[in-house]
Amino acid sequence: MIPYGRQSISEQDIAAVVAVLRSDWITQGPAITAFEQGLAAYCGAPHAVAVANATAALHIACLALQVGPGDLVWTSPNTFLASANCALYCGAQVDFVDIDPVTYNLCPQALERKLEQAAQAGRLPKVVIPVHFAGQSCDMAAIAALAQRYGFRVIEDASHAVGADYRDGKVGNCAYSDLTVFSFHPVKILTTAEGGMVLTRQPALHQALQLLRSHGMTRDQALLQHPDEGAWYYEQVALGYNYRITDLQAALGLSQLSRLDEFVARRRALAARYDTLLAPLALRTPGQAASGRSAYHLYPIHVAPERRRAVFDALRAQGVGANVHYIPVYQQPYYQRLGFQSGLCPQAESYYAGAISLPLYYALSEAEQDQVVAAVRSALA
Ligand SMILES: *Cc1c(COP(=O)(O)O)cnc(C)c1O
Repeated sequence: MIPYGRQSISEQDIAAVVAVLRSDWITQGPAITAFEQGLAAYCGAPHAVAVANATAALHIACLALQVGPGDLVWTSPNTFLASANCALYCGAQVDFVDIDPVTYNLCPQALERKLEQAAQAGRLPKVVIPVHFAGQSCDMAAIAALAQRYGFRVIEDASHAVGADYRDGKVGNCAYSDLTVFSFHPVKILTTAEGGMVLTRQPALHQALQLLRSHGMTRDQALLQHPDEGAWYYEQVALGYNYRITDLQAALGLSQLSRLDEFVARRRALAARYDTLLAPLALRTPGQAASGRSAYHLYPIHVAPERRRAVFDALRAQGVGANVHYIPVYQQPYYQRLGFQSGLCPQAESYYAGAISLPLYYALSEAEQDQVVAAVRSALA
């Protein structure tokens, strides 16, 4: 089976992890800071906090913005569950903004219409979480302009988009947001097995994230009520968690970071090849906005909804590990029990009805890609 996504682990990656195993620190050591500083510098943001996974990153990002009971958080329905669940962890309510039918990203016009209605009803969101679906940045300039006008904060869920470009910068530079979150799950572009990171330009948010990652504890003299107690002394100043990443994982991440441009270049080349090879077939290839360049975590095609099930099953039967991204989050039974109903986001529902993600990963060969294309062609016939 050709999988839809797969990590690429080099001998250099393995050596980096082994070196940590032989060192004094296997967690909370120097590799974590090096990974944070390396990715922050790559993206062009001054601060970064690495954590156990992107779900934890989204949770502490919401908490750093003081999301709590009574607050509203809006996100895209075309995402993994964690983009919405993070708000529920904080006791806030979630709502969904429909997507753009070309990029499948949260639609700024739909957001504006929903904000106008929410302003009239006195129920504006505290935070909006745009998701850079498949590795393509949302229209962040438009979302940031709305954030200014309506007074909400912005967390970019860039789990798919490490290495992507938007306007004249890298996704993650937080030029149009308060915080950006990355995931390093093995199917994503760069991996630490499990892992995530939050980036920000704001020192106060950086400090809050560091506390939340590790029990709300600090030894920072500037934060202590009793700074003269002794060298053993620490204080808990907030309610935090154990969301730490290990040095083993951070060493893997840092080594992978040196290959990130190569990973993204290969994904872009394979995506361009899919665009060409699939163009004659009865399907829609993923649309790209002019304002950036996708890092291509996913390559989602769209087929006639009444054929999707048959095409998907035929691909699997031919050894192509296709997948589907995403079932609109609010159609999950848990969200239906919260009161959400089908029909809320028609664009997300019609996209989902025909969506199939084709295999795309660094080590996918052109021969394998040709096999995928042949399977799609025969599945559609
Ligand atoms: C993978 C993913 C997450 C969660 O990442 P983990 O690191 O597995 O917790 C969150 N949001 C999106 C959009 C994702 O694709």
